[in-house]
Amino acid sequence: MSTNKTIEAVIPPPAPHMVGDGFRVHSFFPGGRLIDKKRMSPFFLLDYGSKVDFSPSEEPRGVGVHPHAGFETVTIAYQGKIAHHDSAGNSGIISEGDVQWMTAGSGLLHKEYHENEFSRKGGLFQMVQLWVNLPARHKKTKPKYQELSNAGMGRHYLGDKESYIEVIAGEFQGTKGPASTFTPMHVYNARLKKDRIANLSFSANYNTALLIIEGKALINEKEVATDHFVLFKNDGEEISIKAVEDAVILVLSGEPIDEPIAAYGPFLMNNWKEVEQAMQDVNTGKFGTLV
Ligand code: MN
Repeated sequence: MSTNKTIEAVIPPPAPHMVGDGFRVHSFFPGGRLIDKKRMSPFFLLDYGSKVDFSPSEEPRGVGVHPHAGFETVTIAYQGKIAHHDSAGNSGIISEGDVQWMTAGSGLLHKEYHENEFSRKGGLFQMVQLWVNLPARHKKTKPKYQELSNAGMGRHYLGDKESYIEVIAGEFQGTKGPASTFTPMHVYNARLKKDRIANLSFSANYNTALLIIEGKALINEKEVATDHFVLFKNDGEEISIKAVEDAVILVLSGEPIDEPIAAYGPFLMNNWKEVEQAMQDVNTGKFGTLV
């Protein structure tokens, strides 16, 4: 018999900080209640850029060239447009509902900016960046870039054409998401009109959480407000979501990667020797070049 997952904590958005000059984010984990770096494994980090109105700027705001290795950065755009360029030769622009799934793997350089035209006009900006860990056997995989347009997401409708589970990765009741992943995980946006209900089910051992992007919802009967993060215990399987008002909810659930973590800045490895090697590889140009 399956049972509801117990809510371990409802976490309000931590005070925001700037990443570069373009991303004002609340860092939900690692840290705080989720100080254990493996608490949400395979998800290592969640930075949430809650809705903010950027003034017009001729010079696009963002983060300049920096390295990553040993994991994947997943950027989800909710408002505004984000441009990406990397030293593996990939680039792209994502806008509302699109996702960029970048595998840093053996290492690359990239830069992340507000897209030019969006920057010139200014406007509402809202996004999520997730860091997804790679298991030791895939740490050194070749860098890869998946641009996942909103039109290509899996959609499982719930009672009307405006209420659905949008599947980015993994699957929901047989509807699959377009992202290819290295370990089992589910990443959805639940887009629900007021009063619509979604019933989700994940293995008890999968680390599971959700983030209210828009609106508010009853999560296993408990009302949770916009911008709040819900962490579940690893006890039951079921989650019911009922939209109290029109809502968008990011849902994360994944099989933990049970390996040691050595995390330093933009590197996420299994041990410190590998971190040192990655820093050396940046300095000797092995991550390529990017201007
Ligand atoms: Mn980055």
